[in-house]
Amino acid sequence: MAASLPKTMLAQVLVDFGKPYELRSVPLPVPSGPHDLLVKVEAASYCHTDYVLAQGQMFPLPKQLPHIGCHEFAGTIVAHFENPSSRASEFKPGDKVGVPGRAFHACGRCFECHGSKDPVAHDDGNYSVHCLEAENNGLSRDGGFAEYAVVDARQIAPLPSSMTPVEAAPLMCAGLTIFSALKRAKLQAGERVGIIGAGGGLGHLGLQYALKMGYKVLGVDAADAPLALANDLNTGARIVDARREKAADIVQQLGLEDGKKYTAEMGVDAAIILPESQLAFDFGMALLKAHGKCIIVSFPEHGFHFSARDIVFRDISIIGSLVGSNKMLREMLAFSAVHRIQVISRTFSLCRLNELVEEYHKGEGGKLVVDMSRNQ
Ligand SMILES: [Zn+2]
Ligand SMILES: [Zn+2]
Repeated sequence: MAASLPKTMLAQVLVDFGKPYELRSVPLPVPSGPHDLLVKVEAASYCHTDYVLAQGQMFPLPKQLPHIGCHEFAGTIVAHFENPSSRASEFKPGDKVGVPGRAFHACGRCFECHGSKDPVAHDDGNYSVHCLEAENNGLSRDGGFAEYAVVDARQIAPLPSSMTPVEAAPLMCAGLTIFSALKRAKLQAGERVGIIGAGGGLGHLGLQYALKMGYKVLGVDAADAPLALANDLNTGARIVDARREKAADIVQQLGLEDGKKYTAEMGVDAAIILPESQLAFDFGMALLKAHGKCIIVSFPEHGFHFSARDIVFRDISIIGSLVGSNKMLREMLAFSAVHRIQVISRTFSLCRLNELVEEYHKGEGGKLVVDMSRNQ
């Protein structure tokens, strides 16, 4: 590695499940394979999955503690794997990149990597973000709540020149996940999508993506601050307070809006469920018209209860959506830059990560990001 690099770095480490992070000096990670690059982290965004992992509820758990979380970050490449003859990368030191959690060292041999051709998850070069052998930065292995991180050149993407690391980091999981979920809905322009949890980290991006993709959009939330955030975006989407409006009434209104006779049979063509809440799931299901798609992004510990009648009599499909391929990551970044997607975030210094987590639990919407350029 380059001689100018330090031997140690500051990192926020998880020393035990259910405990706050501890700021420690740890050895600098070292690229160990031909696809590996060392990135100087400039922004690291907090995701709900970081909380799930820190509570010891993630499956699989990280291989060892202490562990460095964060699977959505951005920074600058500072070094390659040290053997030049076996480097396999389009990137060079100085390049600004965004880093998602998946897929670090995908195997390239399993069925997922080789046999699956799912366009949302599969990449050219025969690897998949669903590869069971792959590791995940910030989940199974160390991630971005640190000054440096080792990444796989195949999992990352160059940042558009108009985008700062603080803007890009939240797109690496939240942006990619909601963008891919919308792709999985396979809607036609003019069709309707309901985004349940519209003022949250994923939701507020989803509102903007869905409108720019040409869909009619209904954003649903059930708390004051996220509703205010969704309204303040002024996207033109209809924002619904689920505490005050009933899904059945909205379905009737959508039918009238479209001039349909059978108003009770109208509704949205796809509903994307973001909160870990049965009420959110039920609201989304009730908004869907027959043959609609219910796209599930969250994974509450005890699952969701669904009505078999919705599946059988109304032909609702339930579709899960994780993140997206590297191809999808690049498409999402380009789309975000062209359409000037606004990432609503608040920043904290690395040493204030525990305060960021406290703030997260207030549930005020948008994204919370560690900005490495902040000292306090
Ligand atoms: Zn995430
Ligand atoms: Zn594989």
